[in-house]
Amino acid sequence: MMRNFNLPAKEEYMNWKLPMVEIFETIEGEGSAAGFPTVFVRVFHCNLRCHWCDTPYSYAPEKPEFEATIDEIITRIQELDSRYICFTGGEPLIHGKKSAALLKAMADLDRIVDIHIETNGAIDLAPFESLRRSDEAVCAKARYVMDYKLTASGEKERMIENNFALLQRQDEVKFVIANDTDFYEAKNVVGEFHDQGQVLFSPVWETMPPKKLVEKVLANKLADVKVSLQLHKIIWDPDQRGV
Ligand code: SF4
Repeated sequence: MMRNFNLPAKEEYMNWKLPMVEIFETIEGEGSAAGFPTVFVRVFHCNLRCHWCDTPYSYAPEKPEFEATIDEIITRIQELDSRYICFTGGEPLIHGKKSAALLKAMADLDRIVDIHIETNGAIDLAPFESLRRSDEAVCAKARYVMDYKLTASGEKERMIENNFALLQRQDEVKFVIANDTDFYEAKNVVGEFHDQGQVLFSPVWETMPPKKLVEKVLANKLADVKVSLQLHKIIWDPDQRGV
């Protein structure tokens, strides 16, 4: 039996507060939802410190931009128009029961068709998966995009391989690839642990030019791997926030 969060009544958890970074609307820049108008719900805190992290403003020593109840977050999402939500951070699931309650509240919005959860591979997905399997709305809309960290991130030792067994067809597992070592490591991890969910290889542009990554995927005959480029790095200044 998987551990569950046993959420209280909705009236109670809608008052729970979360530290937040930002809530804004743009298009999704990567993965299978790339190109769709999307509300980004970015919560504060992360349990990792990846060397190449592009959102260091989402964890200490920085401070949250604001605190909001789940009710206030939902109200803000309802003011926007997108049908997709990117639940991100930091690490969006780091707040445990509160993260689960926010996920459930977002899934209960009729307009929303997809909530992709950008989790970092170092959070046990079992209790969240228990919620997904037991709740119709969460089951229909929630998808993990599990970002499995490789050696160049400095956080490979923190990865929880058991999470692979929980992924389903609609989920994604992403590998951010900084160099050749990362590439072959990702290839091995896929061979050893991956069962279901689309595999994405995404380059660290500064050290792994996208063209080189494409050539390596083809040369290694990785026919099921999808190379994923971040659209927002092409459309806007790579360092611009809130786009
Ligand atoms: S898990 Fe994500 S937010 Fe956290 S340090 Fe790594 S890249 Fe940054």
